[in-house]
Amino acid sequence: MVQNKRFACGECHLVLPESTDQCVHCPSSPVTLDWSGYVLILDYNRSEVAQRLKIERNGEYALKVSVR
Ligand SMILES: [Zn+2]
Repeated sequence: MVQNKRFACGECHLVLPESTDQCVHCPSSPVTLDWSGYVLILDYNRSEVAQRLKIERNGEYALKVSVR
């Protein structure tokens, strides 16, 4: 399995910018490198993936996030 270089938020699944380990939307949430399935949401209102993941912002998200 390829090691991710970027963290993903355990709460909102946002993939964080490189060298960032704290989610801007949920600063108290755990972040992890253990995630898979990258998705770019450009228009969350019209995205089925965004609705399924309950994403309410555009951005880069991980489909699956494992927080220990
Ligand atoms: Zn978050």
